[in-house]
Formats: sequence, structure tokens, C-alpha cells
Amino acid sequence: MRAAAVLVVGSELVTGVRLDTNSTEVTAALLAAGFAPDEVVARPDDEAAIAETVRRLVDTHDLVVVTGGLGPTHDDVTREAVSRALGLPLVPDPRLAERLTQVARRHRDPEAAAQVVRQADVLEGARVLEPATGTAPGQVVSGPWGHVVLLPGPPHEMRPMLESFLGTVRVGVAPRFVRCVGISESDVQVTAQRLLDAYAGIGFTVLASPALVDAVLFDAGAGGEVLDRAAAEIASALAEDCYSTDGSTLAETVIALARDARCSVAVAESCTGGLLGGALTEVPGASDVFCGGIVSYADDVKTSVLGVPPGTLQDHGAVSAETAAAMAEGVRERLGADLAVAVTGIAGPGGGTPSKPVGTVWFAVADADESSATLRHLFGDRDGIRTRAVVTALDLLRREIGGRAR
Ligand code: ATP
Ligand code: MG
Repeated sequence: MRAAAVLVVGSELVTGVRLDTNSTEVTAALLAAGFAPDEVVARPDDEAAIAETVRRLVDTHDLVVVTGGLGPTHDDVTREAVSRALGLPLVPDPRLAERLTQVARRHRDPEAAAQVVRQADVLEGARVLEPATGTAPGQVVSGPWGHVVLLPGPPHEMRPMLESFLGTVRVGVAPRFVRCVGISESDVQVTAQRLLDAYAGIGFTVLASPALVDAVLFDAGAGGEVLDRAAAEIASALAEDCYSTDGSTLAETVIALARDARCSVAVAESCTGGLLGGALTEVPGASDVFCGGIVSYADDVKTSVLGVPPGTLQDHGAVSAETAAAMAEGVRERLGADLAVAVTGIAGPGGGTPSKPVGTVWFAVADADESSATLRHLFGDRDGIRTRAVVTALDLLRREIGGRAR
């Protein structure tokens, strides 16, 4: 595995004005391409600071990916800093210069126009990564010491260039993800570890996020086929708690299962306030199976829009098996779906009682014949409880649709 580092440039990133998302995206892509990222650094728009960091990272890594500071404005100094660090002069790329000169005509002020053309400067010997969107090109300089890749800061500009670069340097076997839900981190780890004891040359780690656990297998000499075999064995031992081995997210898995089963889906949400519908519609093509959702936050909306009987709310409360079931039945019927899931709970920080503490969440799944309610006591702050509620609702759908297919 070849060592890789990521340097994100921007004063806004080190002062908390903007959230750095590039570094996680880049490291994940590097890992998938077979690199071993082991350092992530953020630096302000300061030429000397960037140059010093690049020099150090190049000495210790085979690949250094730098994002940000490639644009036309005065604070974009990444090109100059890397030029200084590597001792490579900046030379205008004729093709880029021509195109950027056309772009520059749009600017009124000659100084602004000149700044745009500055983006045609590339490090001597660099390969240009053409911008699919935006004007700032990326560049790759390679030597016996490895590669330095410069990419623009805006994620939508950075992404396609990173993909195009990685398409040319893929060096190893991508890690395999055995993705699980409804099972503890330790249970996943122990189950996987026992099976992995029979294998050599596989690195292993467990990554948990709210209510989800990934067992990640890295190639440490075993090779791709052996990695696949081990991943399949772990997945089969984890049975229904494993939802994917091909990198699919839980929502993607639900949509794919529903599509295969020709089963349309609707949701009724209270404490998740639309996050469940949001998670399903994040998946491209969700419209094949997802009819829609109703956010029924207030009790009278549960009654007027979903048809939850007022007596049910009075007798059992909004957070109850009876209300969850009536919400699921109501949304299924009104939106004409085959299957519906409902979620109603107490996300906190207020609103808890001794019998229904914060984190009490009722779910229900309904089809044309029946509905069944499930109680979960979810932990965390408001955000954590809502996230876990979304995962739980998706998982209930997954198990229900999966059960029908069997
Ligand atoms: P531009 O031509 O847009 O100026 P640039 O390469 O100069 O491209 P920056 O000026 O560094 O990029 O950043 C532009 C914007 O891109 C930032 O305001 C920020 O919104 C976004 N951005 C930059 N770096 C990151 C990062 N690491 N993570 C997420 N967003 C980023
Ligand atoms: Mg910029």
C-alpha cells in the first residue's frame, strides 16, 4: 500500500467558517483506489505555510493531494506555494491560456481579467486535469518521489478531477465493507474476527456510526479474491444484520429491495420531521418505488391528514404503538403504497416523562392486511435520536421487504 496525504488549503477551513468536507471525501476515494492515507492537514491561504507543509508531506508520502486555493483571486496561492516547495517554475499552458482568455473577456476590469488568465499557469511538466465545471484546472506532477495532485476547493469541481486522476493510478485492492445494522459494534467485531483467524494477509477494522456498523477488510497481501471470500463468509455469519457487501448504503439497499419486489413505499413521520423521506430520496431513482411521505408533527395533522382517530391520541398518546400503527395505515392508504412505515417518538431534550423518557420511539410497518408496531429506546442527543430513528425505520422496511422476498 502506498502512503498518501491530503492537504486542504483555505483560511476559512482552519477558522471554522466553512466545514472541510474535501478531506474525508478524498481520503475515502484514495482508500478505495488502494492507497493508504495516513495524514490530513489543513493550512490557511498562506504561501509559506503551504510550501512548508507540501515539502514535508512529499518527503514522507508517495501521493499528496492538495485541494483549494487554485482560483483566480489574490488569496489563491496554492500554485505559487507548490512551485516554491518543489522547485518547479510556473509556466502558462497555451491551451488553457487560450480558453481562459476567452473567459476573461467577460470581466470588465482588466485586473480581474488578468487574474483569470493566471489560472493557466501550471507547474513545469505537470499534466493538466481539465475542469468539467468551473474554470480552475487541476494538475498532477509526478516524479520518482511520487505524485502531487492539485485540485480546486469547491467539492463539485474537485470530485470529477480526483476521479479522473485516480482512474490513471489505481494501485491496489479496494477495501471491502460488510455493512451491518441492528447489531452492536462488538458483536460484529467478534464474529468477523473469529472467521478472519483462518485467513492471512487481511487487515481489519470496525467503523461505527449511529446505529450502523461497518466491518472493513483491507488487503494486506491476501488479494481481492480472498478479500471477497472473507467478506462473503462474514456477511453470511451476520445473516440479516448485514445489509450490504457492495458499498451500498442502507437507503440504497431499501430502494433496491423494494424495486426488485415491486413494492411501493410511503412514510409518515413525526419526530424525524422529514429526514426519513430525505434519506430515501437521496438515492437516485428512488421515485421508482417511493410514493412520498407526510410529516405529521402536530396531533391535529395526524388526525386530519393521516386519519389517526382522536380517541387513539387521547387514550394512548402521540408516542404509542396505536398511534404509530394508525399513522402507517393512514399514509399507506392515502398515498396508495404497498407498504408504509411510521415513526413517532420523543427526540428531546424536553418532553420526556417517567413512562416515556426521551428516546422512546414507536415505529410501525403497515401493508394492505395488517400493521405491526415496534418500540425502541434510542440514545443520544436530539440529533442522535433522530438519526437513529431514521436508520431504524429504514431497517424495519428492509427486513419487511427482505422477508417477503424469501
Ligand atoms: P475557486 O476557483 O472557486 O476560487 P479554489 O480552488 O480557489 O476555487 P477555494 O478558493 O480554496 O478554491 O475555495 C472555494 C470554495 O470551495 C470555498 O469557499 C468553500 O466553499 C469550498 N471549499 C474549499 N475547500 C473546501 C474543503 N476542503 N471542503 C469543502 N469545501 C471546500
Ligand atoms: Mg478561491
